[in-house]
Amino acid sequence: MPPALESEEHKALRAAVSALGKRHGRTFDREALWSEAAKLGYLGVNLPEEYGGGGGGVAELSIVLEELGAAGCPLLMMIVSPAICGTVIARFGTDEQKQQWLPGLADGTRTMAFGITEPDAGSNSHRITTTARRDPDSGDWLLTGRKVFISGVDIADATLIVGRTQDARTGNLKPCLFIVPRDTEGFTRRQIDMELDAAEKQFELTLDDVRLPADALVGDEDAGLLQLFAGLNPERVMTAAFAIGMGRYALARAVEYARERTVWKAPIGAHQAIAHPLAQAHIELELARLMMQKAAHLYDAGDDVGAGEAANMAKYAAGEACVKAVDQAVHTLGGNGLTREFGLASLITAARVSRIAPVSREMILNYVSHQTLGLPKSY
Ligand SMILES: Cc1cc2nc3c(=O)[nH]c(=O)nc-3n(C[C@H](O)[C@H](O)[C@H](O)COP(=O)(O)OP(=O)(O)OC[C@H]3O[C@@H](n4cnc5c(N)ncnc54)[C@H](O)[C@@H]3O)c2cc1C
Repeated sequence: MPPALESEEHKALRAAVSALGKRHGRTFDREALWSEAAKLGYLGVNLPEEYGGGGGGVAELSIVLEELGAAGCPLLMMIVSPAICGTVIARFGTDEQKQQWLPGLADGTRTMAFGITEPDAGSNSHRITTTARRDPDSGDWLLTGRKVFISGVDIADATLIVGRTQDARTGNLKPCLFIVPRDTEGFTRRQIDMELDAAEKQFELTLDDVRLPADALVGDEDAGLLQLFAGLNPERVMTAAFAIGMGRYALARAVEYARERTVWKAPIGAHQAIAHPLAQAHIELELARLMMQKAAHLYDAGDDVGAGEAANMAKYAAGEACVKAVDQAVHTLGGNGLTREFGLASLITAARVSRIAPVSREMILNYVSHQTLGLPKSY
């Protein structure tokens, strides 16, 4: 017998988080849900036990986010705070950084945002120009650059900023990661006016000679991409969880509606033109979840390279499945699909986020074309 895909513990976690999500529902208060989920240990489920976490992995964390999303109350900052920042600090931080940040990230009293995207680099993160140089006298770092679309900077105690050192300003990216506390001098933010109905906001950031102590650097200045990908693979798995949860939420609303709504003799769900696309959406969400579980399993087993490919594919599949499920759900409700009362129309924009961020559909297709299939590059 092959091992069960999901252990009894995972099923119990899924059920418990689902119950919490249903208590908060679609009109949830982000802060209240964040602190309750944290108190119950769900936000730090992936972080080491010695720092107050649950000692699990991204498999468990993705279950939490998927179930909150399926209940209509996804917490976008889970993708960033415990998944990227928590992972990077747990794997590469100094003992002091771990002591300082992990217990708070685990119990939800502290949150960290993550900033890599830049206005002139976008999908090409090799082109980022946020530059760190050392003050030769004090040993401090001085960070200068711009970031865009960074989520939750207003509610985060600090942002983990991806920069590059001055001597590595050109050529292939050798990223280095800095913890920048929210109110550091020279670190300013401007909220971007997004057409997104979400609890978390996005910001453009300016770093103008931001002075940071030597210990603001997480990990090794020369460890480069390996360190960054340690955080980005969980980010992709978590974005898949975000998308699958949202897709499931929309699909469930559509199915409920299609069972009841009757304009001819039978409920509209009896018409195959309505039923089949919903069945397809369900299949595609389930398939995406399988890939997400594979990616989480590989990552938690320490296979960073294998996890990279699987996490990209899971993010792609989940983003596509989510966009289609939401589109079909809105359509199933007819005019009601566009009312505020039924709350589905705003998911049309929200669903697109998982197709664009943190890496777009096209960049994943590029990755698979080049890395998996060995096809040549056009750029
Ligand atoms: C709601 C939201 C939250 C976000 N939160 C964060 C955050 O917290 N932290 C953070 O760092 N970033 C965040 N981002 C940024 C996100 O990761 C970027 O938007 C994303 O990486 C795409 O970059 P871009 O917007 O500059 O698009 P561009 O890179 O300009 O791409 C535009 C289009 O061109 C396509 N394209 C680009 N290059 C190629 C190519 N070589 N081949 C084929 N097609 C190509 C892309 O697929 C895309 O469709 C967030 C974005 C959104 C929308």
